[in-house]
Amino acid sequence: MTTTSALVVTGPDEMSVQEIDVAAPGSDETQVEVAAAGVNFIDVYQRQGVYPVETPFVLGSEGAGTSSSGERVAWPQHLGSAAGVVNVPTDKLVPVPEGVELETAAAVMLQGLTAHYLVTSTFPVKEGDVALVHAAAGGVGQLLVQLITARGGRVIATAGTEEKRAKARDLGAETVIDYSDPGLDLAQAVRDATDGRGVDVAYDGVGKATFDASLASLRPRGMLVLFGGASGQVPPFDLQRLNSAGSVFVTRPTLGHYLQDRAELLWRADEVLGAVADGSLRVEIGGRYPLAEAAQAYADLEGRRTTGKLLLLPTA
Ligand code: NDP
Repeated sequence: MTTTSALVVTGPDEMSVQEIDVAAPGSDETQVEVAAAGVNFIDVYQRQGVYPVETPFVLGSEGAGTSSSGERVAWPQHLGSAAGVVNVPTDKLVPVPEGVELETAAAVMLQGLTAHYLVTSTFPVKEGDVALVHAAAGGVGQLLVQLITARGGRVIATAGTEEKRAKARDLGAETVIDYSDPGLDLAQAVRDATDGRGVDVAYDGVGKATFDASLASLRPRGMLVLFGGASGQVPPFDLQRLNSAGSVFVTRPTLGHYLQDRAELLWRADEVLGAVADGSLRVEIGGRYPLAEAAQAYADLEGRRTTGKLLLLPTA
């Protein structure tokens, strides 16, 4: 038994740093000293009770650190990661390659693996495809822009501030749209950027605020990939709209279904961490917060004030 600081949710939107006991790891677990845990929207949904979790619980779904046997490891999808010491199921751990900082590895577990499955499996982007990417300076957004262009795709990006649009451009977006402009017809702007054709795929993690425009931006038989709801969840939807929008496809994927077994986890993690290691995938850490300042990290994320990835540093 050991004790450690942890970010504990005690009720809807109530959290505090507490000292908790950590049991010795079970036979299928590995104890890890956490260097960094990621900040994600799923934490927000769990904290607010949108995704119900029995309280009290330790927040955080990903991290990276050093195992009790001295190995550098990272993991996605383990609730309870925002703590100094965590027992992680051993089959969720991936090795962090030499040359990749633990913080960077933590930063690409949920968002990097998500961007990877979205461009390789949900809609496998090929040379010449045109993709719409919303919130392109965000955590998932920045990685999507790079992975799409690396596969020969072209990106039409949206972002809410000039600084964010400059980042999207710098990462390879061909056209960048200010979707916070209230006078803008977003779908028309996308059509103008594609000579009237529309995009092959729209990657939409903003949700409620952008869904209609994403649908109207597709080419006939294009695909809308709704992977989140940073602006709120999309309300119930009349399937007939798929017909009038051009016999289009809509899917609502989630990471767990694209990490079905250990081989799939290792394949995706190896490609993402490999691209980080060889410098072809740039990862921006947009903010580092000690556990005691976690509330500020979430306020910044929810308040649209961030770019790239936010991290919690449990031992800072
Ligand atoms: P981001 O870093 O992208 O932050 C969210 C961004 O969304 C903001 O910076 C903002 O960018 C934009 N945004 C637009 N409207 C709002 C609003 N009303 N409130 C807040 N933000 C808004 O976050 P993540 O990269 O962590 O996550 C992006 C999305 O991906 C989320 O919806 C998340 O749930 C989803 N996700 C889905 C997964 C899956 O498997 N399905 C896995 C991981 C994440 P701007 O200022 O440019 O508008």
